[in-house]
Amino acid sequence: MLLLSSLLFSACATAPVPLMLDTSANALPPQAMVSAADRRAAAAGVAMLVAGGSAFDASAATLLALSVVEPQSSGIGGGGLLVYQAAGAAAPVSFDGRETAPASASQSLFLDGYGKPLPTGKARPGGKSVGVPGNIAMIALAHAQFGKLPWATLFQPAIVLARSGYEMSPHMANAIERQAKSLALTREGAALYLQTDGRPRPVGSLIVNEPLARTLEAIAAKGPSAFYTGPNADALIATVTSASMNPSGMTRADLAAYRAKLRPPVCAPYRLYRICGMGPPSSGGLAVIAILKQLEDFDLAALGPDNPVTWHLLAESQRLAFADRATYVGDNDFVSVPVAGLLDPVYLRARGRLISPEKTMVTVVAGTPPGAPARIMSNGSEVASTSHFSAVDTAGNVASLTSTVEGAFGSGLVSGGYVLNNELTDFDFAPVVDGTLVANRVQPGKRPRSSMSPTIVYDNRGAVVLSIGAAGGPTIPAQVAKSIIAVLDWKLPVQAAISLPVMMVFGDRLIIESGAQGEPLAKMIPALIALGHQEISVVALPYKANGIERVGVGANAGWRGGADPRSEGAALAVE
Ligand code: GLU
Repeated sequence: MLLLSSLLFSACATAPVPLMLDTSANALPPQAMVSAADRRAAAAGVAMLVAGGSAFDASAATLLALSVVEPQSSGIGGGGLLVYQAAGAAAPVSFDGRETAPASASQSLFLDGYGKPLPTGKARPGGKSVGVPGNIAMIALAHAQFGKLPWATLFQPAIVLARSGYEMSPHMANAIERQAKSLALTREGAALYLQTDGRPRPVGSLIVNEPLARTLEAIAAKGPSAFYTGPNADALIATVTSASMNPSGMTRADLAAYRAKLRPPVCAPYRLYRICGMGPPSSGGLAVIAILKQLEDFDLAALGPDNPVTWHLLAESQRLAFADRATYVGDNDFVSVPVAGLLDPVYLRARGRLISPEKTMVTVVAGTPPGAPARIMSNGSEVASTSHFSAVDTAGNVASLTSTVEGAFGSGLVSGGYVLNNELTDFDFAPVVDGTLVANRVQPGKRPRSSMSPTIVYDNRGAVVLSIGAAGGPTIPAQVAKSIIAVLDWKLPVQAAISLPVMMVFGDRLIIESGAQGEPLAKMIPALIALGHQEISVVALPYKANGIERVGVGANAGWRGGADPRSEGAALAVE
């Protein structure tokens, strides 16, 4: 097995990889594939499938390879959420590898000397924003249940990529340009990504990351304890506590205490289908389901994607979903989240009835779902980064995994060759607003609320029809819900669904994607204004979705992938 993986990854990572091909060039649908935000990481996943691994093995190898080739978005210094459908199982399971706040974190973590919330730009760089990373613990937990290949095998493609080197992509170079100051905080970060004069290394540079190769080798050989204890833990703690900006109070005990968790997935029917996603501490699954179900009484299939009313409805449904998200969702190990109430079909239908196809709602406030606790609220906002990947294998297992370091290059700190996240800035900075305790406030050991929405969709016989997710902080549920409607209601291939423009709502402001991709929506602006959307901005946001859908029936059944044209992603299949 090791030999096979190293054969596949022995050359510089940009060389063509055998045994794989783009689905677009393939006439018969493939039986196993990976869609990820970077072709080299997708190839790492496919190598696991070729070696007889499960969809889980493929997604884990993809996660590890992304630590190397897409460090600006995700990696072992961050966290992730995995929704997994095992072939033949009655329901999916979901794994929570979200970062935790250290025991020393108080609710004033991100307040200034006057008790005012810090600007995110000030809170983010350095040690204070770093949460205890969860990805290694999460894949270890899932591997015990769903891994077919040996643990160490999952690491081989990433180790080869780190040691042999890989070419810096334009997206990565762009992120380095923006985060050069934070990357200069550690000698390691500067050596990897900056030139000796402090300027960013240019596109096409060969990045060799020997420290990361060694870290990965240690975890491959000894298991997750090599990450959470011992020399790696010592180096991580030294890095965050001695950071010249915002030093952290994280300790070795925080790292040793980290546990990934199995969580109940959140599921609900949508028309003839069933949608399953990630529950708290993510708001993603609940938001995606709310957006969809609140629109169930509208004939979206007849309205179609070219109609401004369709996009108006989507925007209104998002406004409702986000009002509930802001009020009720946080880490439900710490606050009581009315999950069943927020999924209640009667409640969501009533919320949907607030939407008019003719005009915008004047004010949007949270509803009162069954089981709602006394009001708590939240209004934090994430900055965009992250990576979603989907994997399917010949046995019918399906993985939907979103992984993140939060902002581009996270906290900017690099230790052991990997980037440390700034996930704690996903907490609301102000613990109390208008005298009301905030659900997503900082508390020691707590997980910050996420928007990540790894999702699996089933048909009415329980067969998986789609695995999808996206990057982009609070834009994620909007991207995922839009793509699901496009596949289920408009019968578009997943690639076309992902390519459709994105519209989302921040408060009462409608954000329309700028550039060529967003053009069809830009043309609808006059119609949207006529429907009552007064605040409209056309903005470039880093949308990035990846998905895989089932196609064909019987002997002709297989999978078809989609990778966001806005990204450097690829869907690769096993031949
Ligand atoms: N940290 C964000 C979350 O967990 C994701 C960041 C992003 O996608 O840019 O929701």
